[in-house]
Amino acid sequence: MKHCIECGTKLVEKELDHEGLVPFCPTCDTFRFPIFNTAVSTVIMNKERSKILFIQQYGRPGYILTAGYVNKGETAEETLIREVKEEIGVNVTDFVYNKSFYWERSNTLIFNYISVVDSEDLSGTNHEIDVATWFPVDEAAANVKPDSLAEKFLTAALPKIKSNCI
Ligand SMILES: [Zn+2]
Repeated sequence: MKHCIECGTKLVEKELDHEGLVPFCPTCDTFRFPIFNTAVSTVIMNKERSKILFIQQYGRPGYILTAGYVNKGETAEETLIREVKEEIGVNVTDFVYNKSFYWERSNTLIFNYISVVDSEDLSGTNHEIDVATWFPVDEAAANVKPDSLAEKFLTAALPKIKSNCI
């Protein structure tokens, strides 16, 4: 961000207590912190914690995780529950935080949760989902899209799942 998002003035760097140099708009007399998108992604598990749900979306091959952007005014936990309901058609009953990654291509900070849903029924999936499939926990790593963000989140989640974090 080189210019103020409100008035377009060229930003300068200014010392802010405990933060170091922060972009500052001399016209608005306000610090302008970096702006980025926020999204939630989730490793969905069945009630018995024996299977993990992957999806395929937008006509692209490879199994990935369910995810969506956080709406303004919404908490990450609210996004998690809303997205799973909207995309898969099932209800989140439990969840635990897993890990976050910053995805430069879409300027998005993504928070990943491990969640448990109340049903394995996939008949209510959204039309944006091409394929939704349950995999046994032990087969998840071999089936997730290689080198994807989903793989990074799954790799972080599996040891937690195996130590009964949820
Ligand atoms: Zn300004």
